[in-house]
Amino acid sequence: MHNLAKSKGWWDGPRNKFELIALMHSELSEAVEYLRKKEQPAMDDKVPELTGEAAEMADTVIRILDYCGAFGINLGDAIAKKYAYNTGRPYKHGKLA
Ligand SMILES: [Mg+2]
Repeated sequence: MHNLAKSKGWWDGPRNKFELIALMHSELSEAVEYLRKKEQPAMDDKVPELTGEAAEMADTVIRILDYCGAFGINLGDAIAKKYAYNTGRPYKHGKLA
């Protein structure tokens, strides 16, 4: 994903991590906007066979993968380790009701 983003010119100069993370947030906000539309399911305006919700979830993951590729984060390893950790946590993390 990062190689694609580079090939499209998004990494021709330095990128600010805070801005990149804010752009991840913005994709989720776009998903909220699709869910707020009166007619459901609201279809994506660029890839009409996708719901807007699905398209924006994809955009969010694409931005996360690009970020991790750019900054050397092994996301697969991080997810596997978080999954293992979460598997060992108690029901509702041990919190009462
Ligand atoms: Mg989007």
